[in-house]
Amino acid sequence: MTEGGRYSGGCQCGAVRYEWLEPPRYASVCYCRMCQKASGQPFMAFTGGKKEHLRWTRGEPTIFRSSNLAERGFCSQCGTPLTYAFSGTGRMSVTINSLDDPEAMPPTSQYGTESKVSWFDSILGLPAQKTEDWMRPEVRSQLVSHQQADAAGSAPNRAGNRR
Ligand SMILES: [Zn+2]
Ligand SMILES: [Zn+2]
Repeated sequence: MTEGGRYSGGCQCGAVRYEWLEPPRYASVCYCRMCQKASGQPFMAFTGGKKEHLRWTRGEPTIFRSSNLAERGFCSQCGTPLTYAFSGTGRMSVTINSLDDPEAMPPTSQYGTESKVSWFDSILGLPAQKTEDWMRPEVRSQLVSHQQADAAGSAPNRAGNRR
């Protein structure tokens, strides 16, 4: 798909952008300790396919070899985690929520469950608010986003796009 299609994406600041030339083939979440550290979060969600089907349309991620078997890519400008590749597989994954349309690839499996934090399964039962429930309108109206807008088709607002 081309830029703006369901399978394009990029980092928060927009310095790194990609597109899948073929739709990704799989999607999963991983709770392993390495994914926890790489994201600073309880889990990571990845979708991927053949390495040659992923094309960088702006910039490229910086690579950290998190083990002798795996490489993780992130934007050196804003820190967004972007990729995961297990050596020798010919496959590459991107973080699902770096897609312009994060709804496009729902996960179908879970990995690293032995490391899942004990409170994770209970978060859906916690008290919940929308942003408008707690951020006052006068504050919201003054907010200036520095986040790269999602590509057309999934973006409500392209004004913030930094081309
Ligand atoms: Zn960035
Ligand atoms: Zn993991």
